[in-house]
Amino acid sequence: MALNLKRVPVAEQDPKVRAHNFEEVCLGYTQEEAIEEAKRCLNCKKPKCMTGCPVEINIPAFIAQVAEGNIEEAYKIISESSSLPAVCGRVCPQENQCEGVCVLGNKGDAVSIGRIERFVADWACANGIHPATDIKPNGRKVAVIGAGPAGLTCAGDLARRGYDVTIFEALHEPGGVLVYGIPEFRLPKEKVVAKEVDNVRNLGVKIETDVVAGHALTVEELLGEEGFDAVFIGSGAGLPRFMNIPGELANGVLSANEYLTRNNLMRAYAGGDTPIVHGKRCVVVGGGNVAMDSARTALRLGAETYIVYRRSMEELPARAEEVHHAQEEGIIFDLLTNPVEILEAEDGWVRGIRCIRMELGEPDESGRRRPIEIPGSEFEIPCDEVIMALGTSPNPLIPSTTKGLDTNRRQCIIADEATGQTSKEGVFAGGDAVTGAATVILAMGAGKKAAKGIDDYLNRKEAEKAEQTEA
Ligand SMILES: Cc1cc2nc3c(=O)[nH]c(=O)nc-3n(C[C@H](O)[C@H](O)[C@H](O)COP(=O)(O)OP(=O)(O)OC[C@H]3O[C@@H](n4cnc5c(N)ncnc54)[C@H](O)[C@@H]3O)c2cc1C
Repeated sequence: MALNLKRVPVAEQDPKVRAHNFEEVCLGYTQEEAIEEAKRCLNCKKPKCMTGCPVEINIPAFIAQVAEGNIEEAYKIISESSSLPAVCGRVCPQENQCEGVCVLGNKGDAVSIGRIERFVADWACANGIHPATDIKPNGRKVAVIGAGPAGLTCAGDLARRGYDVTIFEALHEPGGVLVYGIPEFRLPKEKVVAKEVDNVRNLGVKIETDVVAGHALTVEELLGEEGFDAVFIGSGAGLPRFMNIPGELANGVLSANEYLTRNNLMRAYAGGDTPIVHGKRCVVVGGGNVAMDSARTALRLGAETYIVYRRSMEELPARAEEVHHAQEEGIIFDLLTNPVEILEAEDGWVRGIRCIRMELGEPDESGRRRPIEIPGSEFEIPCDEVIMALGTSPNPLIPSTTKGLDTNRRQCIIADEATGQTSKEGVFAGGDAVTGAATVILAMGAGKKAAKGIDDYLNRKEAEKAEQTEA
């Protein structure tokens, strides 16, 4: 059989049109397209794609079902391993994971695993197909802190094992970054996130919103008077960083977190009841997914938008697809450029940003070439809005209110990579709270490992208790 080296293209909204709306950019495969793309899979004897997936979806098996037109069967296979396939099909960096190791990629385009996964999950949702819920309760209670991808995955996996699981979420909607960070045009909230959260609820998981753990309820209280047998902490890394340069306190200078939360969770773009800056010219500082999302949001809210990043295009940490989409939509990339001062007008509002040109030197400890300032190259970009998208750290609230819970110097909770076990007995953790800002699928992988870690821990405890009783 001749190799088909080109992937089936996917329909997208026209860049000129989508730059003015918040509708989803990528329209996804039709059934015919998904089947045609699935037929490109070589059914490798030793498939590498599965080893590239942190939640170990049986990729060759579900792709084979799609190729045969058995979409429901494909969904069953995916949902055995993943609670959030419609989310992952949209936002996972597949190019570095399953698709990055696809053998077809050596000669041509890797199989479009993410787009096929998205099609299957959307099809299941449209046809009222849900993950299996035939579960036998085991009488044990686990509390999960945070309803992001880590918490939802841990909760879903524990519920499938028969646990009575309650998630405590600080915000008024579950989803974590999926609802407050990633914009509607990449990840629709009602159509996708809410539906997959409902699938987790259908497994019997209870979600209590507006509960800030460490404030309303401590970990000790959960393990004590609240009667939980174990606790999983998946509280993410939502604390924004700033540059600490002069002028950063001017009006119109925002963290990406605040800006995106107002726009996504509070729905500012759709007339939600929250103020948001509508700049004429916006400078976004940073080069990751968060910077791309902020820039594309500012553009859609009417601003001419710049990305200012201190390294070059090659080092941009954002997904290639997001950079490509941002460029198509008209975002201006000012690379090898670093801000040194925010310029404030007399009324206290930002009037510009002073930057310096950079060049790349030798690689630093991260392996990327170190940016070095070019003396005398300072210049100004006039603007009335600056968004800082420089990365985030975990919030110290839970560790600071939990005795014996160790963190590292980056405020991340220290947890065993294989089991999620922390320094405190009965307390497990995973996702961004442990790694610092990472990806949806890595957080899900950590939630999955912790669910198994909790199950093993409680089984061990029960066995020890039984031994003691017998003795
Ligand atoms: C704008 C943006 C775009 C991104 N784009 C991508 C992308 O395209 N692809 C990708 O793979 N990754 C992306 N990421 C990263 C990804 O979203 C995160 O790595 C992932 O969401 C981490 O999951 P988590 O469950 O660990 O944490 P989170 O998603 O942050 O969820 C943590 C949850 O815990 C809650 N919480 C925090 N403290 C408490 C408390 N004290 N009590 C109760 N609840 C609490 C929070 O409200 C939140 O709901 C992006 C991140 C951002 C910010």
